[in-house]
This record gives sequence, C-alpha cells and structure tokens, in this order.
Amino acid sequence: MEIVTGVHQIRLPFPQDAPEYTNVYVIEGSDGNVLVDSGWDSSESLWAFREGLLEDRLKFQDINWIIVTHIHPDHCGLASKLRELCEAKVAVHRIEAGLIEARYTDFDGLLNDLEGELRENGVPQTGLPELKEASLWMRQFASPGLPDVTVSGGDRFSTGQLEFEVLQTPGHSPGHICLYERRKRWLFSGDHVLFETTPHVGLHPQSGDNPLRDYINSLGMLEQLQVGFVFPGHGPVFNGLKLRAAEILAYHERRERTIMKVLNDGLKTAYEVATEIPWKPDIGGVAFTDLGPWDKRLALFETIAHLRLLTLDGKLGRIERDGVSQFLAKE
Ligand SMILES: [Zn+2]
Ligand SMILES: [Zn+2]
Repeated sequence: MEIVTGVHQIRLPFPQDAPEYTNVYVIEGSDGNVLVDSGWDSSESLWAFREGLLEDRLKFQDINWIIVTHIHPDHCGLASKLRELCEAKVAVHRIEAGLIEARYTDFDGLLNDLEGELRENGVPQTGLPELKEASLWMRQFASPGLPDVTVSGGDRFSTGQLEFEVLQTPGHSPGHICLYERRKRWLFSGDHVLFETTPHVGLHPQSGDNPLRDYINSLGMLEQLQVGFVFPGHGPVFNGLKLRAAEILAYHERRERTIMKVLNDGLKTAYEVATEIPWKPDIGGVAFTDLGPWDKRLALFETIAHLRLLTLDGKLGRIERDGVSQFLAKE
C-alpha cells in the first residue's frame, strides 16, 4: 500500500509460517523507482511481492534499483530473483558485499570460525552442534548473489524528486546502511531502529570487533538528524526516533548492569553469563535453556558483544584458560 505519497510498503512473510514480516518499500521517482530491501527467498514471499505491486498498480519492470540495507537473509534473500524479474540493479554497502560469499556460497570457513568462537566462549561440547548449525536451515531461503554496485556512507542518489543520502550505521551488521531524505525528513532504517523490537547486536565472525560500541555510536549519529517518519525493516512505520533510540539505549544499559551483577560472584565465561540472565524481556523474560537454538545463539552473541564493550571500556577483565575466555568485574 502507498503509505505516503510515492512510497509503497509491501510486507513479505517469513518462511515456515513464522509470524513476522519484512517490510520492503518501493520509492517512486521520475528518474527511476527504488526498492529498499527484498525479503526471504520463498515462493510465498515472491507472491506477496507480486500481489503488493499489483495492488498499487506497479509492475516488476517499474523497479530500477534494489538497495539492500544489509545482507541478512530476511533483507537480501530474494534480491537476485527480483533483479532478474525487474531487470534492476542491486546495490549494497561494500562491507556487506564482502561478506556475502562466506555466508551464502562457500561457508565452511565461516562455520569453523563460528565453532571456534563458541568454544572460546565456553559452550559445552554437548551444546556445540546445536548452536553451530542453528542457522543452516536459512540458506534454502536466501540466494542473494553479488551486487551490481557497492555504496559507501555519504553516497547520494536521486530519484528525480527525492535526494537520498546513504548513512553507514554499523552495529546490527558491519555495513548496515540507512537511507535518509533530508527535505522530507524520511529515514529508511532497515534493522538499525525498529519500533517494537530491540535490534539484535551480537559479536560473531561476521560482525565488527566492537559492534555494540558501533551500534551506540551510529544511533547517536542518527539522533543528530531531523527525522520525521521512520520506515523500518520490520513492524510499524513510526515517528519519534529520538524517543525510540533512548529506549533502545536504556535496554542496553539495563543489560550491562545485569551482566555486571552476574559477574559479581566469580569468573564466568560468556556462555555462563548468558545462561544466568533473562532473555526476551519484551515478553516478560525467558530463561536461556527455554530458547530455541537460533535464539540461544543470538543471546550468546549479544552477551559476547556486551562483554567486549565492557572489557574495552575497562569495566571487565578477560583471562584465558585452556583456550576459553573468562571474565571478571573490575569494579
Ligand atoms: Zn538484520
Ligand atoms: Zn531483519
């Protein structure tokens, strides 16, 4: 549906009857129409895209550019199929472009790195396969291919009526971008800022070295901008970016306090910390052991990201014993 003049939102379903959606946006312009993000690569998702276009009297051939905010499968999964159907070009940030092959084509190296990280962070042998293989099923729903063009923060493009600036907003993914239209005060935020969920920020083989610091900094950068409507990758379009950013920061501060408390009674691995703190606070808190494998891995990566930030900020110390990292509170 056309949510504001010239911007059409199409909601594409997640695979396997999951209740979530990816929002993709068609932005009309006299110099070409831009699609922001694709969805998962599934028949249902492709069909929903077709229906969404037809409902708003658009055609596949009307799309000239597909700009992908980041290379997670729910944003880039369908990109190469849509490129063909639309005869469009795909653009993604150069850092994200460099991660595609290791993630989707030739992924043995990534799996090894992943196993190394899980071991180093104290995952017991019995829990390793479950966490290591937690995302393998996703590959059947993503065939992004390499982009035609890479972009960087500060790049600008015009649709004729609208001028967009590419904002590099690392954290959720190292080459995540948002698109900003200064005159309209529109922000297409991908997964960087969502209204209903706290975006995941984790440390893993394809993240930055200190992703939570990156995330907090890039959230701060957005707060300096004049923003009206935020068009996110999931959930409702909203305004009040500053308020939402403050809520997200408050979440991370609470999490930091909880982790410091858990580390008050002895040295612990990231895995031990993750098992002692409640997850999914939006739904009242879920114990680590009650999470599914994918959510367990996200919880562990988020814990490691917090531990990295706290260590680099001097609040924690890290020691290594038999290849396993343990943390202790310094204050
Ligand atoms: Zn994402
Ligand atoms: Zn997403």
